[in-house]
Amino acid sequence: MVYVSSTTSPKSVIIIMLDTLMDKPLQRALKEERIPAFTYFLEQGKYFSNVVAPFPTMSVNVESTLLTGHYSDQHGVPSLVWYNNEENRIINYGTHIMDMMKLGLSKSMYDALYRLNNEHLNTKVKTIHEELHEQGKQSASINPLVHRGKTPHYLKIPRFIRYFVPIDKQIETFTSAKFVYGRLSKLSSLKKYSRLWNKYGFNNNFSVQEFTQLVHNNEIPDFSLVYLPDHDKNVHKNGPMDVKGIKDMDQNLQTILDSFPTWEEALKNHIWILIGDNGQSHVNKDRRQAIVDVRKLLLPLKITKLRKGVQKDDQVVLANNLRSCLIYSLNTNDVPLNTIVEKLKEDDRLEIIAWKMNDWIYVTSANNKGSFQFKENGEMKDEYNQTWVLDGDPSILDLRIQEDHIYFGEFPDALKRLHSTLHSHQGDFVVTSVKPGYEFSGEVTPSHPGGASHGGFHKNDSLIPMVVTGTESMPDSLRIVDFKNWILNLIK
Ligand SMILES: [Zn+2]
Repeated sequence: MVYVSSTTSPKSVIIIMLDTLMDKPLQRALKEERIPAFTYFLEQGKYFSNVVAPFPTMSVNVESTLLTGHYSDQHGVPSLVWYNNEENRIINYGTHIMDMMKLGLSKSMYDALYRLNNEHLNTKVKTIHEELHEQGKQSASINPLVHRGKTPHYLKIPRFIRYFVPIDKQIETFTSAKFVYGRLSKLSSLKKYSRLWNKYGFNNNFSVQEFTQLVHNNEIPDFSLVYLPDHDKNVHKNGPMDVKGIKDMDQNLQTILDSFPTWEEALKNHIWILIGDNGQSHVNKDRRQAIVDVRKLLLPLKITKLRKGVQKDDQVVLANNLRSCLIYSLNTNDVPLNTIVEKLKEDDRLEIIAWKMNDWIYVTSANNKGSFQFKENGEMKDEYNQTWVLDGDPSILDLRIQEDHIYFGEFPDALKRLHSTLHSHQGDFVVTSVKPGYEFSGEVTPSHPGGASHGGFHKNDSLIPMVVTGTESMPDSLRIVDFKNWILNLIK
């Protein structure tokens, strides 16, 4: 007799996205510290140390890729900072308050609060929230920056911000049915000053408090994405092996588990996915050596100043994303991309330099005197069954070729990730990233000598761990881009 388990309704899926969770420090914390919640999830589930994040390795890109199941060539959100060719201005969803001030705070805030989700995130691709809504299912988004769905909500802009910035009191946006976005949209009715309001509610405690509210009210929807942002800054400051932040996240996970009648029940009735968003690479201590100032490399080209915006005689625009940088030529007759590439090649701290011409993606680096180019749809097959035509020296991208198969080394899913970045938006640009140990600097972008940073192409920035409980099912590949279908199938 075949035993058929009496499955009733499918389990709901709860993703806890733990910013900058990384394998090595997690392993160390498991050995050296008491982290009961992580330990419990690991005992009850499966662990994967090497899930591939999209490039550039910045949260908005990671979240857009997770929710849409596409890389940026389809979802349209290139990175945290990019240059919008049509509007002739730099978009910055918020690297640093000073960057936003210089760009004109109200415009920047509107980019982050409204345009990111409702305009920049390609409306032709559907998010998990949108797909579930169409199936008559409910979802929750607790604090990620990317959260487009089909339910109208109002973001309420606090008076303190409106005092400085001319911006509407309320902004209508379309999101998941249950929606938390810091203090701007919340479930609970906390009014008084509280430490939960730190960073306007964009902190772990607030995310946890809002999710546990759903648990207490018996309102856990079919899908929840709960984002815990705090660990990013710990690692930026203290370096990749920071364990204190992991202990703090364990406390957050304990609070979440404790909100259920028992920990067993929490895991029995739901599928849990604990996952990082991107890794970080260490940044060397000596600032002069660790921080790469692209503006100096590009001398004497005239680079757009943030505060002034693009001026008539500007030649180049920079979009700095910590360990990667997008460099735009405003007129390729005046500054061909090759001119930019040659200048960048002078600095051997740069790991890869890539650009697009016709169908081809060209890649070079300072060390490598040779060049490499590739395009889609050829005879060569990579680890993810994507096919390519390759030409030149594949060691530039650390590819290992065996007959007609391509294997990746230092740069996971190297071909598709570069290809998607260079096809993510209009404009003539070069993308470059630095080796571990280094970081780009811009006019005011924060830098982290002696700490760590991300945004880069290297596996340090690109590989994240994941724990899954409550299902034997697996995504097509261990890449964030392949998670959407998996998650939707889990909820079916
Ligand atoms: Zn960061």
